[in-house]
Amino acid sequence: MKIGILALQGDVREHAWAIQNTGNEAVEVKKASQLEGLAGLIVPGGESTTIGKLMEEYGFFSAIKEKAEEGLGIYGTCAGLILLAKEIAGSTQPRLGLMDIVAQRNAYGRQRESFETDLEIPVLGEEPFRSVFIRAPYIEAVGPEVQVLATYDNKIVFARQGRFLASAFHPEETEDLRVHRYFIRILKREV
Ligand code: GLN
Repeated sequence: MKIGILALQGDVREHAWAIQNTGNEAVEVKKASQLEGLAGLIVPGGESTTIGKLMEEYGFFSAIKEKAEEGLGIYGTCAGLILLAKEIAGSTQPRLGLMDIVAQRNAYGRQRESFETDLEIPVLGEEPFRSVFIRAPYIEAVGPEVQVLATYDNKIVFARQGRFLASAFHPEETEDLRVHRYFIRILKREV
């Protein structure tokens, strides 16, 4: 399976490593024409305003939305979660808006700007998932079609809507491939 990583800004290499380690092909996507033939796309962490501006400039918004309608699966981590959200609390910044979620940016105060914790994520199995949060958002509210996959401190940090997946944390910062594998299972329609 060919999985693209949107390579405008952010931790592209780490996601590519994870995808390759699941036995799939990773493609660094720098222009919209490279979306052709992909089963899935990862929108990595970084700065959502910067990535959004670059996406606009390079024609990614319309191209990705078109592909999403044709069946492209998308997984957004952190800034990627924000870009997938229909609503971003207090912000009009550009976004894909494909998931019926409200994202709250930089939702963890200064003391917790970056932290790691073990999350219970039932869809990944019994073993907790070591989760790295870096100036992370959380999901403030979800629509009826959204499945909540994990919470932390009573806030939603991992969610799915059909072929779209979003996490506030960075699984690519660990060597645990379970989130990437789960995304691939979504693309294969196994889950
Ligand atoms: N704080 C960033 C934003 O609002 C997201 C941080 C990240 O992706 N690690 O876009």
